Amino acid sequence: MSLLSADGLVKDFGGLRAIDGLSVSIDEGELVGVMGPNGAGKSTFFNCVSGVIPPDEGTVALNGTDVTGDPPESLAHRGLVRTFQDTRELETMTVRDNVRLAAPDQSGERTLPALLRTDGMRREEAAVRERADELIETFELDHLADEYSSNLSGGQRKLLELARTLMLDPDVLMLDEPFAGVNPTLTREIADRIRDLNADGMTVVIIEHELETLTELVDRLVVLQQGRLLVEGDPETVLEDERVIEAYLGG
Ligand code: ADP
Ligand code: MG
Repeated sequence: MSLLSADGLVKDFGGLRAIDGLSVSIDEGELVGVMGPNGAGKSTFFNCVSGVIPPDEGTVALNGTDVTGDPPESLAHRGLVRTFQDTRELETMTVRDNVRLAAPDQSGERTLPALLRTDGMRREEAAVRERADELIETFELDHLADEYSSNLSGGQRKLLELARTLMLDPDVLMLDEPFAGVNPTLTREIADRIRDLNADGMTVVIIEHELETLTELVDRLVVLQQGRLLVEGDPETVLEDERVIEAYLGG
């Protein structure tokens, strides 16, 4: 049984069919790349799978449970978390606060005055602080922890978003163009972190437009074109496929 399976997804935007009967299965522990020319439907596929927009047709199953159209928070509870192509952290907060506040709402009681908090709440908060600091260190953002995130570079924002995502401790991590606008050094950095997470058992699905980084990173490539599955398989075979070459040259 696949960990995540999308079956016959269709998504229309007005007269435009962004996703056209797309079926993709991901096994537990896989590191899968999703590629395809601009407008191929990669982000829409992620949106349908992660509950950001419901598909018009088709189903999404996670761990054998039908989760079609379930909202992102509910999917996050079930272990599936995605990042966005455009980072959306709150610019008026520091890096540290951004990461801490990404933690699942701690019983909604964060605003209680200190004297009214139970020991359990305090312990939970301490654990969140500790985990946030660990992630900030892992992503080498420690020197920026007290900066407002508006002062970060594009690449540093990508790292911040990954750190925020990991506060949710996902089983399945879906990354939409994590390397876009990121310099080569940081790209290698992020790629290494992704590899580590996958080696520790996390299932990872990555959208990427640039082929080079993706090919070195993933076990399997899924290529979309005009909302359909064009080719899938191991990276070497896929990249030599005539249809893929044509899709990319054709734009
Ligand atoms: P990709 O991520 O592969 O570049 P997208 O999934 O973003 O492609 O887009 C697929 C197609 O759907 C494009 O033609 C895009 O313009 C269109 N599209 C995506 N999201 C919307 C939306 N919210 N409203 C209207 N059209 C959209
Ligand atoms: Mg996209």
